[in-house]
Amino acid sequence: MKKIVFEREKCIGCGACVSVCPSFWETSNDGKVDLKEGVEEDGNFKREMEDAGCNQEASQSCPVQCIHVKENDS
Ligand code: SF4
Repeated sequence: MKKIVFEREKCIGCGACVSVCPSFWETSNDGKVDLKEGVEEDGNFKREMEDAGCNQEASQSCPVQCIHVKENDS
């Protein structure tokens, strides 16, 4: 299992993640983006999944490195 952690506060709304991974990311009307079905925890948004899929590309494309793909060891 993988876990995506999104530090939304750092997001500058460039849209790169939405371009490479629209199944998980969408633009928001506050100028940032949202992780679809992300659950807020400690100010970040998290989502667990079997396979990181295009989130690996989303993470690599993010200019402020606020998308993290981690092993879900919990
Ligand atoms: S790539 Fe990063 S900075 Fe750009 S919109 Fe996505 S999360 Fe925000």
